[in-house]
Amino acid sequence: MAEDTIFSRILRGEIPCDEVYSDEHCLAFRDISPQAPVHVLVIPREPIPSLQDVGEEHAGLLGHLLLVAARVAKQEGLEDWRTVINSGAGAGQTVFHLHVHVIGGRALDWPPG
Ligand code: AMP
Repeated sequence: MAEDTIFSRILRGEIPCDEVYSDEHCLAFRDISPQAPVHVLVIPREPIPSLQDVGEEHAGLLGHLLLVAARVAKQEGLEDWRTVINSGAGAGQTVFHLHVHVIGGRALDWPPG
């Protein structure tokens, strides 16, 4: 079973978030430590720890998360943006509840650090 995380607590309404989108499968809210003028996290309601833990059964949900990421980016007025999914501590993941970062509103360098 997935570990309880701060994102599970947000989903349960135990701690507040700055919500920008919600539906039966996912929630999107502003990152508490934004790395750009727009920095939103899209998370599934299902507590999947990481992209390392998904299987074929998650195909529909993963597609939905990306559709919502694009929807949120456009809703925020972005023409260009970056979507990031850090997978594992060595890749910078700090919260082990799958999330898609939507980052934009400034020029973004590549490769990332
Ligand atoms: P990652 O490093 O990819 O696991 O991203 C986790 C993100 O969650 C970081 O960008 C944090 O700033 C963000 N974060 C942590 N706690 C909160 C919170 N309570 N509300 C919103 N964003 C958060």
